[in-house]
Amino acid sequence: MRIGIISDIHSNVVALERALEAMGTVDALWCLGDVVGYGPNPNECVALLLAQPSLQICLTGNHDAAALERVSWKGFNAHARRAIQWTHDQLNRHSLDFLSERPDKLQPDGDFTLAHASPRDPVWEYITSPAIARANFEHFNTPLCLVGHSHVPAIYTRREDGRVNGQTAAPGLPLVVADKDRRIINPGSVGQPRDGDPRAAFAIWDSDQRRFDFHRVAYDVAATQRRIIAAGLPSSLAARLGFGR
Ligand code: ZN
Repeated sequence: MRIGIISDIHSNVVALERALEAMGTVDALWCLGDVVGYGPNPNECVALLLAQPSLQICLTGNHDAAALERVSWKGFNAHARRAIQWTHDQLNRHSLDFLSERPDKLQPDGDFTLAHASPRDPVWEYITSPAIARANFEHFNTPLCLVGHSHVPAIYTRREDGRVNGQTAAPGLPLVVADKDRRIINPGSVGQPRDGDPRAAFAIWDSDQRRFDFHRVAYDVAATQRRIIAAGLPSSLAARLGFGR
């Protein structure tokens, strides 16, 4: 079974279309949250996700929860807050219904725990170091955990002796799970990458081969930037897409 793993779409439907096209046919599609926020096409992103027959799981992220006014907007910087207000005003009934029914953490099978941010704090915590990852291994029981939120593709491995290390997850460097080590894996962001590579990121898990492949795909960044400006959203949110930061 091939499972497509996406996260942090952030209302960038141009990037989402391209990522889904590059992914091709999958048996299941898992989205780790933050479908909306920052970008210009929140309703279009929800509609495109719902149009995927393979969509099996979609978590809620901090921006989704903020757009639904389920969490305080105080934790966001000024530009993110402006985008959340704009998104809140744009969301149609269909999108609101979909986003409001999402869990923030889920264990779909014996292999995986899924959380938007971290298993310890599914809404807010950034897993950006082996030390933070180490603490989080105590907060799930499965061998594998998938997270988004940092927008940086990464693999954190906890060895049997308890040591934890981190590495970047990149195309051409597949991860074959053939040991008893436990891992926290971030596929990166579809709609707002922050690792210096502006291309949309996603991953594919092949459950028969027990293998992850990490993908990057170029999309029409300028098209999304034009839509951000046309919507009256902060221009910095357009600029950062060009840098992948
Ligand atoms: Zn995000």
